Amino acid sequence: PGVTRDRLVEQTDWAGHSFLLVDTGGIIPFGKADSGFDRLVTEVSLAAIAEADVVLLLADGQTGPTSWDDSIAHHLRQCGKPVVLAVNKLEKEANQLAIGEFFKLGLGEPLGISALHGQGVGDLMDRVVADFPKQEADSPCDCRVAIVGRPNVGKSSLLNQLVGRDEALVSEVPGTTRDAIHTDLRWHGKVIRLIDTAGLRRKSRVKEAVEAFCAMRTLRTLATCDVAVLMVDAAAGTVTQDARIAGHIHDSGKGVVVAFNKWDLVEKDHSTYREVWDKFLQQVPFLSYAPWFTFSALSRQRLGRILETVWEVHEARQQRVATAALNQFLAAVVKRQNPRSHGGGVGKVYFGMQTEKTPPTFVISVNNPAFFARNYLRFLNNQLRAEYGFFGNRIFIKLKKH
Ligand code: GDP
Repeated sequence: PGVTRDRLVEQTDWAGHSFLLVDTGGIIPFGKADSGFDRLVTEVSLAAIAEADVVLLLADGQTGPTSWDDSIAHHLRQCGKPVVLAVNKLEKEANQLAIGEFFKLGLGEPLGISALHGQGVGDLMDRVVADFPKQEADSPCDCRVAIVGRPNVGKSSLLNQLVGRDEALVSEVPGTTRDAIHTDLRWHGKVIRLIDTAGLRRKSRVKEAVEAFCAMRTLRTLATCDVAVLMVDAAAGTVTQDARIAGHIHDSGKGVVVAFNKWDLVEKDHSTYREVWDKFLQQVPFLSYAPWFTFSALSRQRLGRILETVWEVHEARQQRVATAALNQFLAAVVKRQNPRSHGGGVGKVYFGMQTEKTPPTFVISVNNPAFFARNYLRFLNNQLRAEYGFFGNRIFIKLKKH
């Protein structure tokens, strides 16, 4: 308990850099970690370091560098990542004298801070973002795909099957961070980039460490993809962790395909196929717009469906609805079903426009957004989908007071 708590990973930004901030339970040097729990916390922290671009080591300035700091510093010097050393609790002048002692950790210049008072934290964060890997210009590709899902659903098996087909493999290109190695597949003359595949190959020995960093990896890959393939274990059924990942995808507004793996393990009768999706929707009702299918990474059954569906979703993402046609359509929809009185008035729709392509976003000018019930927005959303498709893509509607 506690190791996989939700707020372990937080999306945040500093000075124009957007990044994931990961809190760890700390590192208890081996030998001193006598309880199983201590070892677990340490494993999780080490997994976090392996996933990170920059490591921030926080030491206690009131105690001076301890032998614990020494052994952690020893590990960090070998991890090959930029490390920023912050020395905390230095709000008092007297304590600030102690900072020089931290040079001996061999991690460069220690920065004194007071987390309690926020002193020095700005300078510290400037140092952290200065160490971010430089964005290399990516080679061109036609579609960027993230394979996401909880541990053991078969993500790396799928990856291996996809790259295993000799003709498919183009190359591995280094991505924007040292760890985010992408795999390019050539598919029907297009280059499909599977992003962050290094993360899929690297496995931690410790189950909890894997689970704790599932969220981190998911958020990171979602940030740069066009389409996400959410893998679910059809044999195990949909569980809470699947729903949480589905929520991240929905929030991201990226295209989505739901692929139920391990279909070979499922005992089937005539209704099993449909039930897989119905049960998924019970847990994840908001993802009803996603195309889905069952397959087996092991037997390769319906493996071809994955890239086919991904590409369809990607193409649907390119659609832009012309403003004149949209307004004709909106007028007809509103005529067919007028907004009912809600929130103290009756909603009136004036004018609509697709303001963004990815994700498809419509801004509709109205007399007062407060007069529109959620139901009516859902109705508009459904109508837009029925008319224009946007296969596998979330449609965003924003109301603007005119
Ligand atoms: P990941 O953690 O999501 O990358 O999952 P892995 O690819 O490591 O797969 C976890 C386990 O499920 C491995 O033992 C795989 O052999 C097994 N597995 C993956 N796909 C299938 C499948 O389609 N059918 C069966 N029966 N087993 C599978």
